[in-house]
Amino acid sequence: MRVEKIALNGFRNYEWETVEFAPGTNVICGPNAQGKTNLLESVYMLSCGRSFRTRFDRELVGFGYSEGQILAEVFSRDRQQTIDIRLRAGLAKRITVNGVRKTASELSDAVNVVLFCPDDLNLIKEGAAVRRRLMDNAISQIRPRYAELLTEFNKLYEHKTRILKDWREKPSLLDTLDEFSDGMARASAQLIRYRAAYAARLNQTAPAIHREFSGKGEELSIAYQTVSTVRDPFASAKEIYYDICEHQEAHRQAELDSAQCLTGAHKDDLDIQISGRSARSFASQGQTRTAALSLKLAERELLQAESGEMPVLLLDDVLSELDARRQEFVLNRIGGGQTLITCCEDVEISKRTGGKVLLVEKGKIR
Ligand code: ATP
Ligand code: MG
Repeated sequence: MRVEKIALNGFRNYEWETVEFAPGTNVICGPNAQGKTNLLESVYMLSCGRSFRTRFDRELVGFGYSEGQILAEVFSRDRQQTIDIRLRAGLAKRITVNGVRKTASELSDAVNVVLFCPDDLNLIKEGAAVRRRLMDNAISQIRPRYAELLTEFNKLYEHKTRILKDWREKPSLLDTLDEFSDGMARASAQLIRYRAAYAARLNQTAPAIHREFSGKGEELSIAYQTVSTVRDPFASAKEIYYDICEHQEAHRQAELDSAQCLTGAHKDDLDIQISGRSARSFASQGQTRTAALSLKLAERELLQAESGEMPVLLLDDVLSELDARRQEFVLNRIGGGQTLITCCEDVEISKRTGGKVLLVEKGKIR
């Protein structure tokens, strides 16, 4: 799949601009704060209707505009498709594909992307949230139902957290607490099944990439971690639900005391090990980068295996963060699909990739 053309009207610092991308590598370069990441962000939005930088559409609409638009021509599933995303400050966005109204989660039928940015280099060492995000972004693109479930779960989580924070001032809030706990347990049970399956596939794919990459006979492994009372994350949603309820009952008082949700899929993590030792605790700087890159490249392969098409790869500022050997590995691995790379120093990288060079200057592209 590939994005052939994108028109941005009142999107971030793009007032009115159209760009045509090459089917292979595209190097987006220019000095700081010109609109390189904004352009990548607009392509990312074609896959899921939301940004990787903000939850608020109003931040995406150009300053002084009441509406922003991303209009794109993409080639995927053997045909030309037109995606139109209208963003209106304070209102719901309006998405159409070939003129037909779609929800944000349905966009993954048309476009899949894998984003790789400097934050991802911390995938191993940071808190569990980044690793959950890795799973969430990837699974949402393969299973639209997952994205809906996640939204539902997040709403329940926010609501329950508010109850746990405010119940002392307003004890009547406790009347609905168990209802929210139950809703979270049900949604968690389903999320857990999806995540366990994805983690297992990641564990089948990433170690081989890592072996080739590290060249040192180090063995990467990825194991899914969830609510401690869940005996088998591959069991039926019903069985998992009962296991979660057990945890919920045991922690009800602790939740009231701590004002935090202690039971649910919001605490999931991936236990990543290198040669049998926790990478989070023991891996060196270089080892964590190699492992993070392997996970990301595995994500791309899994998406391709699932949809039959190579997802669009978005590399934001990541090459400059890598040493020459790792840069080489990434550049050798990215063939076969469309890639958009942003960087500040253009000449060298564009020469090495042989890609199309797009020069960005104050929201204009040359
Ligand atoms: P860097 O190399 O530093 O990463 P960049 O080219 O990736 O720079 P972007 O993140 O794309 O820069 O941002 C470019 C500019 O867009 C910034 O100056 C930012 O202030 C501006 N900008 C962000 N949001 C909006 C908006 N809603 N309307 C107008 N301009 C915006
Ligand atoms: Mg940037």
